[in-house]
Amino acid sequence: MNGTTNAATGGTIDVKAAVRTFLAHTEEHLVSYLEGCVHCGACAEACHFHQVSGDPRHTPAYKLFPLAKAIRAQKFPLSLIAPRLTAEDLREWEELLFDTCTLCGRCTTICPMGIDIASIVGIARQAFVKAGLGPADLLAAADNSRDLGSPLGVTAEKLRERIEWLADEYEVDIHLDKPQADVLLTVSSIEMMKYPTSLVAIARILNYAGTDWTLSSKGYEATNFGYLAGKTDVARLMIARIVAAAEAVGAKTVIIPECGHAYGALRWSGANLIGRPLPFAVLHISEYLAELKRKGKLRLKPFDEPVTYHDPCQISRRGGASGEARFLLEDFAKDFREMTPSGDVNWCCGGGGGVQAIGRAAALRHKVFKIKMDQVEKTGAKMMLSSCSNCRLTLDESRLHWKWEGGLGSLVEVIADHLIEDGAPAGRDAPAAGSTAPRAS
Ligand code: SF4
Ligand code: SF4
Repeated sequence: MNGTTNAATGGTIDVKAAVRTFLAHTEEHLVSYLEGCVHCGACAEACHFHQVSGDPRHTPAYKLFPLAKAIRAQKFPLSLIAPRLTAEDLREWEELLFDTCTLCGRCTTICPMGIDIASIVGIARQAFVKAGLGPADLLAAADNSRDLGSPLGVTAEKLRERIEWLADEYEVDIHLDKPQADVLLTVSSIEMMKYPTSLVAIARILNYAGTDWTLSSKGYEATNFGYLAGKTDVARLMIARIVAAAEAVGAKTVIIPECGHAYGALRWSGANLIGRPLPFAVLHISEYLAELKRKGKLRLKPFDEPVTYHDPCQISRRGGASGEARFLLEDFAKDFREMTPSGDVNWCCGGGGGVQAIGRAAALRHKVFKIKMDQVEKTGAKMMLSSCSNCRLTLDESRLHWKWEGGLGSLVEVIADHLIEDGAPAGRDAPAAGSTAPRAS
């Protein structure tokens, strides 16, 4: 057996398996990233982890090291200046690649060579998992997704129970397992367990707009912890479940709920993971609502509270949809206050890329939140909206940690609470203001 012991698990660190995985990913663009780095250090200032820690090891370019070392050792096998990757290297970089990278892509926006550190971190995680490394809680979330259907244990049965409860409690039609539908809605188990009013809000809006939609117990979970944890087999399985569910109901569109990485995993990586084009369009809920607004199907009462918007990195910077949230807020949020910076160069919440699920990373996440606190306070906004439940959870936990009094909210829920009833193409669920509150018992 190669390698040495993993102190956390007592298992063996299989260095050769990590090297094999690295060397299976020597696509031209990745190698050119490694060769292209001019070591200018500019990316350090772009990374929220480096920003709050000042630790040079949190410089994004430093994360290239394990892949670079594996490739150089193969290229120059006899060279003394190209030593082999070791178990000690893997042990040292494990925390850097899992706990201190949210795959946010902000470093790429500043890199003069356009090096996409996030994609390299994603590949490196696969290699680390093959070596027997990786944070136990993140890996368990991936395994739960494979075995139970979701990282938080929302099985198909629990989904059905929870939907029945929500439909009754909030008096809203939540469609599950319709035989045919134009639109397949997916859910994030973070929403289902922590913020279920988000699903209530989406259901209300889709019903209000007359969308022919359903959830499916065959493929409901939008989050993809296989993708985040470097477990490609689980990542592929999660995509395949959604594809099978969409094909079974004949959906032309799959809606990703308020979850950032779920959008990136399906929209940008889904086809590659399953080895064929996706047979439907993938839209984040903010994109779908923007479409409804353009078609005149979303009529809203004004929202007067001073409000700002936190861009989820995977939807705005990495997803290209920063304009959709602002289009939704336009003429609706009467006192919208933009943070600086925002949009494609926003600061990350600190919990993306699976970091939210890593318990040992909490202290650093909380430090990152101080950047956001400072940004929001400068705007004077009383509420920060977002369109990602993972961001929401990260921000919420840090808000409690610092006893910060600023408000947090969901873009979708605020919109659902401001639908205009009269004259709208509404079904029986046409809501009044404040409709995501449970009915009085
Ligand atoms: S992708 Fe984001 S978190 Fe990762 S190194 Fe770059 S700036 Fe830091
Ligand atoms: S900004 Fe780009 S070129 Fe400069 S150190 Fe970072 S990764 Fe390398």
